[in-house]
Amino acid sequence: MPQLVVDIPQSILDALQEHCAKSGETPDHAIARTLADALQLDHGTLFQVSTSGALIEGVSGDAVSIATLKDHGDFGIGTFTGFDGEMVALGGRYFRVAGDGTVNEAADETMTPFAVVTHFEPRQSARIARFKTMAGLEEQLDALRDSDNHFFAVRLDGRFSRIQTRSVSKTPVGQSLSVAAEHQSVFAYEGVSGALIGFWTPAYAKTVNIAGWHIHFISDDRSKGGHLLDCAADGLDCQIEALNDFRIAIPETTAFLKAQLTGDPTEALDKAEH
Ligand SMILES: [Zn+2]
Repeated sequence: MPQLVVDIPQSILDALQEHCAKSGETPDHAIARTLADALQLDHGTLFQVSTSGALIEGVSGDAVSIATLKDHGDFGIGTFTGFDGEMVALGGRYFRVAGDGTVNEAADETMTPFAVVTHFEPRQSARIARFKTMAGLEEQLDALRDSDNHFFAVRLDGRFSRIQTRSVSKTPVGQSLSVAAEHQSVFAYEGVSGALIGFWTPAYAKTVNIAGWHIHFISDDRSKGGHLLDCAADGLDCQIEALNDFRIAIPETTAFLKAQLTGDPTEALDKAEH
């Protein structure tokens, strides 16, 4: 990434340092985010790499790097080459929840075959009431959407009385997500604080993304996470943003170019993701 050297007033520097100390956000990210906002860059844009249908067809090789994803978003979810773990991005940092449940920050050169990211700028916040299951959470999230036909990004923060996640372990490139998901590890935690990061995808986009809510989790201490299977909480803080611009980076790899993508992956995705 290019570097910029500028003079700024001491008061702004003090405020920036205070913000970063409090939030854990890096100065680079805070400045880039604030500038992008002021310059109206990428507002409400969802950036996606490859398609969900391609994952079912086993297109899990290198497509783009984490560094490229960072250019297009500070927030999102995805996977890594060979379905080697679950991706969770928030505040400009990209994490990998490995198949054994451990969490590490992904290096910029790490490659992904599929990811969905955005520069998260929520316009709406709400308090989610007590819920006992994922269905109870989804019902409340659905009530916050004003349309079935936009994409939405959502972030939920709070303490989970119970949460169940999964992570997939590395499989040979070429193997379907359906096969990888058969060997997933499921993790159950109680009394853990963290963030849910996810998206709503309209039904009409079911061959490129995963229709409905698709949510990943990361704990506040960055030690636990994964693809969300179920959860319960007494209440959560919710931020949501409608996204009305959808960009997709279509891989130029031979595997993608030759993949048979004429089918409807809905049933296979439903099985692999729930
Ligand atoms: Zn997932």
